[in-house]
Amino acid sequence: MPTRRPPLRYDVFVAPEKPFTAPPPRVGDPPAWDPTTATLIFGARDAVLVDSLMTVREATALADWVALHDRRLTMIYITHGHGDHHLGLSVLLARFPPARAVATAGTVALMRTLTAPDTLNPEALNNDRARFPGQIADTIALAEPLGADRFELEGRPLQVIETGHTDTVETTALYVPDLGLICSGDVAYNHCHMYVGPTTAAIRADWIAALDKLAALNPTAVVTGHKDPTQGNPPSVLAESRGYLDYYGQLRAAALPDRELFDAMVSRYPDWVSRQEFLLLGIPGPPPEHGQDALHPGP
Ligand SMILES: [Zn+2]
Repeated sequence: MPTRRPPLRYDVFVAPEKPFTAPPPRVGDPPAWDPTTATLIFGARDAVLVDSLMTVREATALADWVALHDRRLTMIYITHGHGDHHLGLSVLLARFPPARAVATAGTVALMRTLTAPDTLNPEALNNDRARFPGQIADTIALAEPLGADRFELEGRPLQVIETGHTDTVETTALYVPDLGLICSGDVAYNHCHMYVGPTTAAIRADWIAALDKLAALNPTAVVTGHKDPTQGNPPSVLAESRGYLDYYGQLRAAALPDRELFDAMVSRYPDWVSRQEFLLLGIPGPPPEHGQDALHPGP
């Protein structure tokens, strides 16, 4: 007797690591952006895309991949306001005009802050364009506020989980109870060095609380915003990310010099990808004003 297919399924697209233009780092690999994911959740007819990648090439390849699934794309959900997860949005919206791009009000505000020329941080988008010359869309689309903590795909709930300050402010994850699936955005990483450089002890404590909040949902799969493409999507990434933050915090508390801290993290996680100075030590430059570090356009 044939088993009945679950009403929803999902598929993960991983954009490979990509080099970017920047001065040579003091430590680690040449500048390259960590591999980044987008997830398609789909039923018999309709689909929801989680995140829209960064460059035009990535977003175009993502759109082609979405089209291969032969579903009607109804929504694009953006997990958080960092450009590496949404600057490709205009490409996706042009390709799938019925789709609505949505996010929490906090994420929409950060998307706007980091991309609109009339806001507090007009240099953020310019920095992205300088890192990836000619590769960022001319038109940057914003999501609209969802105005609810859940929406539906073919009558099945998709639940927004607010996770607060993790690798930036106002982050979220998307939980799909029917699949036991969490799309964690950058709350968790999968065998990929984490964007801990700008964090303080207080931010790391909030971040760990967010990981615990996701773990309490007891997921069977977690798709992280950045991952080693050779890895699956096991829920163990939540505990691994927690352990990474704990260990990094211990090294910071011991006031290790930057180079030693970097070496200690890389030796503790020898098989993790993206040994990047900007991830572990922050983006070089003058120290940001208090509270501004969260607004740096990071991974
Ligand atoms: Zn990211």
